[in-house]
Amino acid sequence: MQNNLYFAPPAKNEQVLSYKIGSPERKHLILAIEHAKSKVVDIPMIIDGKEVWSEKKIEIHPPHDHQHLLGFYNRGDESNVSEAIDAALAARENWASLSWKQRASIFLKAAGMISGPYRARINAATMLGQSKSVHQAEIDAACELADFLRFNVQYMAEIYNEQPDSDELIWNRIEQRALEGFVFALTPFNFTAIAGNLPSAPALMGNTVVWKPSNTQIYSATIIMEIFMEAGLPDGVINLVFVSGPVAGKVIFSHRDFAGIHFTGSTVVFQSIWKEIGNNISKYRSYPRIVGETGGKNFVLAHESSNAKQVATALTRGAFEYQGQKCSAASRAYIPDNMWDKVLSEIKCDMDTMKMGSVEDMSNFINAVIDEASFDKLSSFIDRAKKDKDVEIIYGGNYDSSVGYFIEPTIILTKDPHYLSMEEELFGPILTIYIYDHTKFEETVKLVDSTSIYALTGSIFSKDRYIIEYVMKELEHAAGNFYINDKPTGAVVNQQPFGGARGSGTNDKAGSKLNLLRWISPRTIKECFLPPESYKYPFMEGEEGEFSG
Ligand code: NAD
Repeated sequence: MQNNLYFAPPAKNEQVLSYKIGSPERKHLILAIEHAKSKVVDIPMIIDGKEVWSEKKIEIHPPHDHQHLLGFYNRGDESNVSEAIDAALAARENWASLSWKQRASIFLKAAGMISGPYRARINAATMLGQSKSVHQAEIDAACELADFLRFNVQYMAEIYNEQPDSDELIWNRIEQRALEGFVFALTPFNFTAIAGNLPSAPALMGNTVVWKPSNTQIYSATIIMEIFMEAGLPDGVINLVFVSGPVAGKVIFSHRDFAGIHFTGSTVVFQSIWKEIGNNISKYRSYPRIVGETGGKNFVLAHESSNAKQVATALTRGAFEYQGQKCSAASRAYIPDNMWDKVLSEIKCDMDTMKMGSVEDMSNFINAVIDEASFDKLSSFIDRAKKDKDVEIIYGGNYDSSVGYFIEPTIILTKDPHYLSMEEELFGPILTIYIYDHTKFEETVKLVDSTSIYALTGSIFSKDRYIIEYVMKELEHAAGNFYINDKPTGAVVNQQPFGGARGSGTNDKAGSKLNLLRWISPRTIKECFLPPESYKYPFMEGEEGEFSG
């Protein structure tokens, strides 16, 4: 029975659990970690709802313990990408015409499973596979993913509810069609929630999807897929393939029915994708939607009126949580010379107590970086910094990959505000600080604005409202997520919709209505109840000779 106007259950943010010693959630989590470590899984691709295996089995190891084998994933090839596209196109018509309430129910059920019976398992997988601490896994895999799913349902209902004006003889409607074709979700390693949101947001709006996760996130991606299927997602709506990015791109970007890409990852990859789509533009049925959230070089700017302890905490948490592998991580800071000593002594208190090691020892604040390639890139940068005259490493600078890919949280002081690590994203636990002359605050603000190509997140610390107002105006385009007296990380769905501009992406704000608007194509319908029956308008009925001249 469809003859009702339904309202989706109101969404609210999932509560972040504490995992204190003795808490039930901690006990469940420890059991889930032990269970995951006790077996070796063999993870298939999922195409048209079926498990797909291949000859190529790729090992999966925890980044903090690379001798332990968690399992294998089955690596596919171009033929699997083509099969995934075919399955998505075959499922499209039924899925796009299914009532929105049914689509909503599937993803609301998935949210309930994530925050309930699957919580420990998806957190354990994120901790083991991506080396996240329990708190980082909880705010990502359990809470943010459930929030994305629940709030997107609410936004979808709001979008469908927004209708144009009509009058007694004309009924205007807007019908929000799914895109004509399939959507490609290309997801990064660093957030389980983003990996789940990128395919599910377009699917919720009636699209069918080919999803290629990062190779280093497959261990938790497979649980997301299992949840979606268990929640009732029909076959072919989301198809999960494990291939290299270029292999997926080669097949997808030359397909006539490619309707859009939902990407999160590095700027360089996004730019290469955009070029490829541009080169193929005449092949497509429609102009593909290109949505990409990419890199950052996020700043913390402290004014002399700020509180040194608060600035120091913003730096240590903002730069080093999840080993600096958050797109929003603070990686460049500007501290006035007249408060540097105080900030440094507060930083010292934090750095001296910060522990690094396995995620299973929950007293560790720092775990491993994602893989060997990242370890090599970061360690060679540190080696270079050790030799550069313009910089001084004041904390960290050591690394060790004998057990896991561990890079010590590292703080660099630079005299050159354009030093490489003030401009380029390194994506690791490395913070570069430039100490500025406090009498040159305005020049420093200009420097913050013009130093890097990115504009993702940034913070101003000050007690002075004139300064805050000034900085907000001057740095209007320097960050898509701007923080006042807070670290630049930790955006929450429906509270701080997330995304940046300039080199940081298309700013389509994941976790907001704006993002969902990219996955629909409105059809405006005008219905006339009493259509005119003559071409003549009333003004044409004036008398002849009305004008004297
Ligand atoms: P990445 O760009 O290396 O990979 C992202 C995805 O693209 C992966 O699935 C990867 O396999 C695929 N890929 C890689 N090369 C490709 C190619 N040539 N063609 C097609 N696909 C390709 O990014 P990552 O290392 O997984 O994630 C870290 C990056 O993501 C950082 O730059 C970070 O700032 C960014 N990020 C941004 C946000 C945001 O919201 N702005 C959020 C999370 C991560």
